[in-house]
Amino acid sequence: MTYVWQALVANFAVVALVTSIWSQMLGWLYDQSPMRRRAALGLLVGLGAAATIAMSVEVSPGVFFDLRSGLLTLGAFFGGPVVALIATVIAVAYRAFEGGAGVVVGTANLVAAALIGLGVRRLSATSGPNIRCILLLGVAMVALIWASIMLLPAEAQARALAGFALPTSVMSFLATITMGLTVLHAGVIARERSILHAALEQSPDFQYIKDTSSVFVAANRAVARHNGFNEPGELVGKSDFDLYPPERAQQLFEQEQVILQTGQASNDIEEVVKDAQGVEHNYRTSKAPLRDHENRIIGLAGVTVETTMFKQLEHELVESRDMLATALAEMSDGLAMFDANGFMLFCNDQYRDAFPLTAHLRRPGVHIRQILQAVVDTGEQVQLPVSGEKAWVDYTSNQLKQANVEEIELFNGRHLQLRNRPAPDGRSLVLVSDATELKVAERALIAANASLETLASVDDLTGLFNRRVFDETLARELSRSVRANSHLSLLMVDVDRFKAYNDTYGHQSGDRCLKTVASSIKSSMRRFSDMASRYGGEEFAIILPETDEDGAYFMGDALRKAIRDEAIPHSASEKGVVTVSVGLAHYGPNSNSRAAAELIGRADEALYSAKAAGRDRVMGWTQVSPLH
Ligand code: GH3
Ligand code: MG
Ligand code: MG
Repeated sequence: MTYVWQALVANFAVVALVTSIWSQMLGWLYDQSPMRRRAALGLLVGLGAAATIAMSVEVSPGVFFDLRSGLLTLGAFFGGPVVALIATVIAVAYRAFEGGAGVVVGTANLVAAALIGLGVRRLSATSGPNIRCILLLGVAMVALIWASIMLLPAEAQARALAGFALPTSVMSFLATITMGLTVLHAGVIARERSILHAALEQSPDFQYIKDTSSVFVAANRAVARHNGFNEPGELVGKSDFDLYPPERAQQLFEQEQVILQTGQASNDIEEVVKDAQGVEHNYRTSKAPLRDHENRIIGLAGVTVETTMFKQLEHELVESRDMLATALAEMSDGLAMFDANGFMLFCNDQYRDAFPLTAHLRRPGVHIRQILQAVVDTGEQVQLPVSGEKAWVDYTSNQLKQANVEEIELFNGRHLQLRNRPAPDGRSLVLVSDATELKVAERALIAANASLETLASVDDLTGLFNRRVFDETLARELSRSVRANSHLSLLMVDVDRFKAYNDTYGHQSGDRCLKTVASSIKSSMRRFSDMASRYGGEEFAIILPETDEDGAYFMGDALRKAIRDEAIPHSASEKGVVTVSVGLAHYGPNSNSRAAAELIGRADEALYSAKAAGRDRVMGWTQVSPLH
């Protein structure tokens, strides 16, 4: 009996050895291709199973008891079908080589163990390997042993039941569980290590561990590449003195020694280092001391990040902010920004200066309503609605959300143009430009335009309207009289013997005489609608809307008298003084067709009649005029 236990313990030792190799291999296995990984594991498990068979307990000639099934089932469980197949083939081959009465049962046992491992693997496909699976496999192996015993020839079966069944069951269960848990645990560690390794390896940052003499113990690929090595391992055993110029290496060494001696980490140290090509790089380094379980410092871990790009971005950001600030300060317009709720975010000095009475309130954080209320209280803006100030404050603060242009006038006579530009995020921009100069120029332009118009419509010498205005007015009054079927009269006034006047007194006196005549005509006008103009030379035309023939005659005669009463001496005239003759034409309500040329022609004819009749008189046009 002791022999059985001893043999099984020896068997267990084989299982333990395989387990140990397996666990050690896991780290290495993770870096291999799947095919190599499976082949290696299959080989290990197969050979392990063969070794257990070699060291088995012989129950009866050719019938062996050992712990092979535990190895195989775990190989299949952890490794999958390929591992199961390789291991089973090796184990079965060896079992066949051993031969004996138990070959068939033994082979069946091996295949069953592998299948059980694969089955449980399938069951735990979603959850992954865990303790419950291992326990299940342990129990299954015990069951397998008992099933195998049942299949043995009667004599071998009896012997097995008498002495081998129990110890083998116990040992097989223990071996499966121990081995399973060990591999499970080693797998977890290997996986964690592999992830950690990959993270370190693939990190773009420089990560390294040094011993207390600042010699590299480990480093990732980024550090290796940076220093011109292909593999991180090549750095191990080197120090900064092997990598950098002595001065730099010494500097780094001293910094690290301080950390190692004081135990104080140095965090986020910024440095600028030139590379071999002389290009500057920015680095940020953190180094922390590493301690063993007794809290002794055994080295340091360092992480260095290249920050050149961040630094450049930061620099560009600062530069563009400065540029913006300069632009804001130098621009001629005032500019303010308000947030979506109406609070000022910022403004430039020009904006503040544009509003002398509320400048102190125009600063970040102040609400637009508060500013507008101050505008009301101080009377800064003129022409605010007298009784609707609150409504104005409401309306204007809401205007921030609309794109609009508004012109306002301040108490000091300045005119400002305000432009609101709402941004999609709810903020709004207010631009203020001084429109005072513009306003002054605009007013001057309007005035100049008005005087130009006057110039274009007034006769220089006499100040009466000119011929152009006469033509326009006559056309307008004619159509009006047609529409209203009303009277319209026209007087044509011509200075008598004016050629002789010029000849006698000179052209300049002639001009003065015309001025006097014109002002007499002007003061003879009775109604606002009466319109006197210089028709040309020493002829004047007077339009008299809504005036019948009698009224027109009265007007004409009055002005004739007025001119005569001026008593401007005219020695060359038979009258002795300057006189005028007046021709009168008229359309009354019965005039069906009315035309300017016709009316003027008739007035001319009447004037001719007045001249012919002895001058200094008014004559109306009649059908029986001498010309007709
Ligand atoms: P009548 O009594 O028939 O009208 O004789 P008149 O000499 O006035 O006739 P006429 O139409 O032949 O002469 C008009 C003169 O008026 C001719 C021109 O020298 C003079 N005259 C026209 N315009 C002006 C002006 O602006 N200034 C001056 N000084 N003379 C003008
Ligand atoms: Mg004339
Ligand atoms: Mg004349």
